[in-house]
Amino acid sequence: MSTIIDVSHVSKTFGGVVANKNISLTVEKGAITGLIGPNGSGKTTLFNSIVGYHPIDAGSIKYEGREISAMLVPEIARLGLLRTFQQTRIYGAMNCVENMLISMPHRKMRFLDAFRRNSRQDRERAEHLLEFVGLYEKRLLRSGSLSFGQQKLLEFAMALMNEPTVLLLDEPTAGINPTLINGLIDRLIKANTEFGITLLIIEHNMRVIMNMAETIYCLAHGELLAAGTAEEIQNNQSVIDAYLGAH
Ligand code: ADP
Ligand code: MG
Repeated sequence: MSTIIDVSHVSKTFGGVVANKNISLTVEKGAITGLIGPNGSGKTTLFNSIVGYHPIDAGSIKYEGREISAMLVPEIARLGLLRTFQQTRIYGAMNCVENMLISMPHRKMRFLDAFRRNSRQDRERAEHLLEFVGLYEKRLLRSGSLSFGQQKLLEFAMALMNEPTVLLLDEPTAGINPTLINGLIDRLIKANTEFGITLLIIEHNMRVIMNMAETIYCLAHGELLAAGTAEEIQNNQSVIDAYLGAH
């Protein structure tokens, strides 16, 4: 495997708050990598820095060997690096297919793509992906009428519409009922194994992340506390003290 994301000595402060301090970690191409840590430990901030939502104060972020820390969201998204949100961002008044079709603002606009925009192929792909996440029957329903868990599945399908190389998922199972969680995990694993999408996942559900991720990083107070396999992380005393013990 080769490194696809290389975060090196990244720091980010908001006013006086040190959200990320000297964080270094790598994501291997094709892998599922976990990011855990208590609330406020800086996980979402790191995601935002990686995908270009805000500039970093220090350090470097490389994607496929290329420095991206000064790039903006659309540029980074066009390289194939996308994130989803802790709170879903869908248009409740639109149906699922419509949400899928407007979810591609960052697609690589090649000459022919300009003519294919919202073409029949796009519609078919939208329907295919809705089927993939188990929402085909609901494709013409207002997305606002879906359950929260179904909305998260829709958001996942919307991210897939952009054909990401790497997808950063911020607490994908939060607020989802246990029945849907298993379905979502299956789809995430399939996106990784069948579509080859590299996944970096922030997750509080330890059962989920320990089963999925080959490598797990743990943040605490904005700093990297530990890195290792699920087993190593579960047995790491500083991780237990800072996070797992209270979990
Ligand atoms: P996590 O995702 O691990 O819960 P966050 O990255 O959201 O943690 O937050 C880390 C710290 O940075 C928190 O203290 C939070 O209040 C602060 N923070 C995050 N985003 C902002 C922001 N836009 N403005 C000010 N403070 C922020
Ligand atoms: Mg967060």
